[in-house]
Amino acid sequence: MSDTLLTRFLRYVQIDTQSDETSKTCPSTPGQLLLLEMLKRELGAMDAGDVKMTKHGYVMASIPATTRKSDVPTIAFFAHVDTSPDCSGKGVKPIVHRNYDGGALKFADNPRLVLDPATSPELSAAKGKDLVTASGTTLLGSDDKAGVAVVMTLAEELLQNTKLKHGLVRICFTPDEEIGRGVEKLDLEMLGAEAAYTLDGGSPGEISWETFSADAAEVTINGLSTHPMEARAKGMVNAAYLAGKLLAALPRERYAPETTGGREGFIHPTRVDGRVEQAVVKFILRDFELAGLAEKRRILQGVCRGLQASEPRAAIRCRIRKQYRNMAYWLRKDMRPVALAREAFAAVGLKPYDQLVRGGTDGSRLTEMGLPTPNLFCGEHNAHGLLEWVAVQDMELAVTACTKLVELWKHESKPRSL
Ligand SMILES: [Zn+2]
Repeated sequence: MSDTLLTRFLRYVQIDTQSDETSKTCPSTPGQLLLLEMLKRELGAMDAGDVKMTKHGYVMASIPATTRKSDVPTIAFFAHVDTSPDCSGKGVKPIVHRNYDGGALKFADNPRLVLDPATSPELSAAKGKDLVTASGTTLLGSDDKAGVAVVMTLAEELLQNTKLKHGLVRICFTPDEEIGRGVEKLDLEMLGAEAAYTLDGGSPGEISWETFSADAAEVTINGLSTHPMEARAKGMVNAAYLAGKLLAALPRERYAPETTGGREGFIHPTRVDGRVEQAVVKFILRDFELAGLAEKRRILQGVCRGLQASEPRAAIRCRIRKQYRNMAYWLRKDMRPVALAREAFAAVGLKPYDQLVRGGTDGSRLTEMGLPTPNLFCGEHNAHGLLEWVAVQDMELAVTACTKLVELWKHESKPRSL
């Protein structure tokens, strides 16, 4: 299996698929379309059914059912083709380190960079495996091309192994996950699945079914601009200065991403644009619980009110909008997608474990839209940076575990329609 999977992975990471938040198109960048078209061709070549690319670039395909039981739920596997805008994905030169010796790894194109088990402790479990890194000037893109390679290999194996009994399986590759638009233009009816999994996680055994609930806030401060020489006489109100006061007034010690962990949420300023006339501060608010998220909204609104009271001549407006919600609110009502993943992992010798996601996944939105979608491991580590790495054997384990998972679903039944 390994060479097919590895060859695939190496082929996919060499296509620059960085997404771009400022783009208005879908996919946001043409490189993503190149990879999506490649996947469509490869799915066609392996004789997958219903291979289709939608006008927004989503690639879907079917692996026909092999069981005669008619009410088996249809399950789907997702992976996203884009890489993070935070780190260059252009000209990725993947390097395979066979039989990793457990020590520090150097990078051919960046002598100062070291991948060290002291700062990347997950490496200790990778001794003896075959690792892939980039060459030191780009990210690798295993987030989420490890997932793409796993799903493609899974599709091929299921198509070839007709003895394995399972229901209809759907495959879906999506663009623009990293800029939060991964499922915006997805037609769930066309996909036609009852449950799904994103393959976009870390170490073998990892299952994520709890994510943050998320709001975004934008605070606009309108000041009054004058020439500095008559600022006192004409009553200048400096919005840039007020933006600084706003940030300083936030309870950073207990409510920032850099001071919190585990189940704690935060208020995080992501961008400040400011002049005398106007300043705009953007925030993301995060918490696992809705009550905690409401508290973060109250704190930010309170700080804005306080700032307004301290400078009545300014006009301060705080606008908050919903982003996504913790998928656990829905999954707790029907834990089968999680329970079956745990059972499949255990059946292939892995120790299943839950990993809280201090962020969102495409599955957060999908689950809220009615398609329960936990996230499963595919071997990604140190994503969005130069030190990204993946072990080939971990990707293989994901294929084996998902094959088992597909098989386990055949014992389940679709809810009877009314
Ligand atoms: Zn990802």
